Amino acid sequence: MLRLLLFSLLAATALAALAAWRRALTRGGLILAWALAVVIGYCGGLTGFLALAATFLFTIAAGKLSGKKRERAEKALHAKTGARDAMQIFCNVFTGALALVLFKLTGYLGFLWAYGGAMAASLADSMASELGVLSKRPPRDILTWKPVQAGLSGGVTAFGFAMSAIGAALVAACFAGCTRAASGSFLPAFLDVTAAGFFAALCDSVLGSGVQVKFRCPECGALTEKPKHCGVPGTPETGVRFMTNDAVNLCNNLLGALAALGLYALHH
Ligand SMILES: [Zn+2]
Repeated sequence: MLRLLLFSLLAATALAALAAWRRALTRGGLILAWALAVVIGYCGGLTGFLALAATFLFTIAAGKLSGKKRERAEKALHAKTGARDAMQIFCNVFTGALALVLFKLTGYLGFLWAYGGAMAASLADSMASELGVLSKRPPRDILTWKPVQAGLSGGVTAFGFAMSAIGAALVAACFAGCTRAASGSFLPAFLDVTAAGFFAALCDSVLGSGVQVKFRCPECGALTEKPKHCGVPGTPETGVRFMTNDAVNLCNNLLGALAALGLYALHH
C-alpha cells in the first residue's frame, strides 16, 4: 500500500514535470492534472498510469504534427487555445479517475474497462481534432453534411475518422496489454476499449454539431466557438449556451466510459 502510494506520487510528478516542460498546461491545469494522476496511479496501478501517460504523450505528439495549420484554425475558431487549463483537464481526466476509484472500491473489472474507455475517448477526440485539420478534403458537418471550415466542432472528414480510430486503438492496446494479467486475454479488452473510444468520439462530433454553442461574428461574419471575435462579442447562433467545448468533452469521456462498461457487462 505504501509502495503503491510512493509509485503514484513519483509517477504523477514525472508526468507533471513533463507537462510543465512542454508548457502543455496552465498552473491550475498542472495542479489538477498532478492530483488526478496520483489518484489514477494509486487506484489503477501501472495499468492506470500507463494508459494516462499514453493519452497525454500522443495528444502532445498529435499537436506537434499538425503544428501551424492547426494553430491557425484554433486561433480563428476555438474559445480556448494554447495551454490547457484546469477545466479542460477536469473534463478530460475526471471521468477516468472516478472509474478507477470505483474499481478500487469494488474490485469490479467493468470499472477498469470504463477507465480504458474514457481515456480512449479522450485520445480519439484529440487525435481527430488535432490531426483532422490536415485532411486534404474540406470537412462536412456530421449532421447537415454541409461543408464547414476546418477545425470547427462537428465537422468531419474520412481522415479525421481514421485518426480517431487510431487514437482509440493506441490507448486500447496499451490498456489491454497491461490488463492481460487481470482479464486473461488481450483481444476482448482491446476491441471493447477501441470500440468505446471511437463511438464516444463519434458522439462528440454529433454533439459538437448539434448542441455546442457557436457564435456569429458581426465584424467578419465568421461562425466560431469564440464568444468574442475581431474584438467584438459575437451573437449566439446555434447550440445551447452552456454546451461549451469543455462540456462536450466531458460528455465524450462519460460516453466512452459507459460504452466500455456496457461492453464488459455484455461479455462477462
Ligand atoms: Zn470576426
